[in-house]
Amino acid sequence: MKKQRGQLIILSGPSGAGKGTVCQAATAHNPNLKISISATTRAPRGAERDGVEYFFLDKADFEKKIEENAFLEYAKVHDHYYGTPKAHVLQMLDEGTDVILEIDVQGAAQIKEKLGFGVLIFIAPPSIEVLKKRLVNRKTDSDAQIQLRMKNALTELKQAEHYDYVIVNDTVDQAAADLEAIIRAERCRTQNNLEIIEEMLM
Ligand code: 5GP
Repeated sequence: MKKQRGQLIILSGPSGAGKGTVCQAATAHNPNLKISISATTRAPRGAERDGVEYFFLDKADFEKKIEENAFLEYAKVHDHYYGTPKAHVLQMLDEGTDVILEIDVQGAAQIKEKLGFGVLIFIAPPSIEVLKKRLVNRKTDSDAQIQLRMKNALTELKQAEHYDYVIVNDTVDQAAADLEAIIRAERCRTQNNLEIIEEMLM
């Protein structure tokens, strides 16, 4: 039987909505699900390591990669560049691996327009108050950065209507289960299985 192409899952939501934690929980249950590692020009936070959370590049290197068309999408978020390395993601999809892109709303819009495939999922916090509390408790950002992230959160929430699904992250377990359920359902979409049916009819 021909292996199905991997699902491209694009996950967005405000900083502090819990995208990272939900993704980690979902990938821990599912060896066929991988998170793409983005490149960024922002400095590492806390214990972040190059090549693990992000590939940390300086501005000149990032701009060189833009010129080389090495990104599936890229955007400026909170005054820094962020981008998805193209070659590795496409290779994983071809191998049948499901890939999560944890990217901002501008990047998600680019993917939808350029690629014409991918499942867009928006992760929302249960309330604005909870979002602020999560950002403050993280203790990694300055007051000014928290203010900027809260302002950007409102802009991002307005984009949720353009997504295929919304997951409200009240508890990580429930949100990760929702994410896994969406991926399973997407795998069963008719258009993703027509080749298998056609093979049987030959
Ligand atoms: P943080 O600095 O908190 O890790 O991420 C800030 C924002 O950048 C988040 O909304 C995150 O989803 C987004 N982001 C991370 N990687 C990428 C990427 O490769 N492309 C785009 N467009 N956004 C990204």
